[in-house]
Amino acid sequence: MSYQVVSNLEQVLSALKNRGENSRIIAGGTDLFLEKLPEKLLDISALAEALVIEERGGTMLIGAAVTHARAVASPLLAKKVKALTEACAQVGSPQVRNLGTLGGNVINAAPAADAAVALAALGAKAELIHYSGNTRTVEIEELYAGFNCSAIDSCQELLLRFVVNSSDSGSGSAFARLAARKSLALPLANAAAWLRVEHNCLQEVRLVVAPVKPAPTRLFKTESLLVGRPLIAESWREAAGAAMDEVEVRGSLLRCSADYRRHLIGVLVGRVLETAAGRALTAKGEA
Ligand SMILES: Cc1cc2nc3c(=O)[nH]c(=O)nc-3n(C[C@H](O)[C@H](O)[C@H](O)COP(=O)(O)OP(=O)(O)OC[C@H]3O[C@@H](n4cnc5c(N)ncnc54)[C@H](O)[C@@H]3O)c2cc1C
Repeated sequence: MSYQVVSNLEQVLSALKNRGENSRIIAGGTDLFLEKLPEKLLDISALAEALVIEERGGTMLIGAAVTHARAVASPLLAKKVKALTEACAQVGSPQVRNLGTLGGNVINAAPAADAAVALAALGAKAELIHYSGNTRTVEIEELYAGFNCSAIDSCQELLLRFVVNSSDSGSGSAFARLAARKSLALPLANAAAWLRVEHNCLQEVRLVVAPVKPAPTRLFKTESLLVGRPLIAESWREAAGAAMDEVEVRGSLLRCSADYRRHLIGVLVGRVLETAAGRALTAKGEA
């Protein structure tokens, strides 16, 4: 097996181009090392362009090789994309968070991957570069081809970074999950919300839950019901009920029944909405 650590973008693209199908990108390796390894691995954990955390003209740029631990430690991310730092804080254990990356979390395509759910609620877009040099920007949901199956071929294309709009004033976000234990356990269900408030009413809402479908799942009906609603407990209760009606969940012998998961999604939806609304008011200085 060959293992190459790359430090700049040209190196990655030319390595992907020259090495063919048997080479694959690796970041933290926390998912990939559980699989049958390819002959050649291309380590992007030191790739400067994929390690950025910065705000540029109302946009947050968050590198795909940023680890969960680094995301949690970033005051800028905590201020601008709180749902993401909350999600990253709950991944695995300190060891897993020190190695595992945001890009790996999304490309691994587990249906309830914590950071992916938060990124989808934040409306993050993924920037990708093919070895030919072609670039494209896609929604998080477009990166999924099926359960545990990515639409991205990591032998040909690099997920470089995520782009999140950070210019909305009066917005807030939150993430919550429940797992069998507080660490080293995948979530039974998770939820994330991003919302914008004006005059104490909801103006825009993005609500994402998992595991429901292969990709993090937007609850469009519940979102539209919430627009224009006041920031009161009744709104969160109604949204919880609407979310339970909207989701079609599966039970699992290993995790929990479908009924319990549906109930849980309702509870988590109520929680993330209330917390995100509180944060939006604080951001506007109205709390
Ligand atoms: C014990 C344990 C506990 C865990 N707990 C959780 C948990 O609670 N919540 C959770 O969400 N996840 C959990 N995970 C899963 C895992 O840690 C995360 O999904 C992590 O974010 C994966 O990132 P990585 O950098 O290690 O990915 P890697 O293993 O390096 O890569 C994963 C996949 O993505 C591809 N890839 C990686 N980066 C890129 C890129 N930039 N461009 C293109 N392709 C890329 C690789 O080729 C591979 O196919 C756990 C894993 C373990 C082992």
